[in-house]
Amino acid sequence: MRRGIIIALDGYSSTGKSTFAKMIARKLGYIYIDTGAIYRAITLYAIDSGFIINESEINTELLLKSIKEERISVYFRTLPPENKSCTFLNGANVENEIRTLKVSGLVSIVAAIPFVREFVDIILHRIGQEGGVVMDGRDIGTAVFPNAQLKIFMTADPEIRAERRLKEMLASGENAKFEDVLENIRKRDYMDTHRATSPLTMAPDAILLDNSHLTLDEQLLWIEQILQQKQII
Ligand code: C5P
Repeated sequence: MRRGIIIALDGYSSTGKSTFAKMIARKLGYIYIDTGAIYRAITLYAIDSGFIINESEINTELLLKSIKEERISVYFRTLPPENKSCTFLNGANVENEIRTLKVSGLVSIVAAIPFVREFVDIILHRIGQEGGVVMDGRDIGTAVFPNAQLKIFMTADPEIRAERRLKEMLASGENAKFEDVLENIRKRDYMDTHRATSPLTMAPDAILLDNSHLTLDEQLLWIEQILQQKQII
């Protein structure tokens, strides 16, 4: 049995949610769950299964059938030597593949499908019910765990986010142009905030963090103060 609260960390794409969430989880000895990785893995499954009809349409019937027949299994494993949390899709480590622009370009369409969100919510509730977890995503504090004891909402200027994301992609060996990354970020912002089911929005009881001009150390100080105020540490 794990101990601790649920910390919901929502916000725009590429605001550094995962890095920040991992830092908080490490500090508290909690587990960290990257909920976007689950949507990305399902998107990869749809691409590999040929469910993409054109650049912006998914064959939802076939995707629903795969979910109903339990043909999609997504889980996380921590792998040595760095103890990095990796996303597995049906037994295969897809951690790098799910971060490519191919997947990023389609994931918001897949994430807007209500039955996909229901499927992911079931996975997240199972993980979250024991507490002691930091989850990053778009709707954790608003829809998945509206009673989460601590909610943070992250934002940053789109250009700064694109620059950070581009750096990460180049470091992992993917070639990309700044303009394409920025366009993808703007597109995802729009789709995430305008979809009908669980759109990205700040929960009224969330604390806003704009990290456009904050270093990681400054963000760590910021969260330490909040954790102390809330008597979590
Ligand atoms: O966090 P990340 O950018 O990897 O998430 C990929 C996409 O998955 C987002 O752009 C969003 O469309 C979707 N997502 C979501 N709800 C979540 C997490 C991610 O809709 N809780």
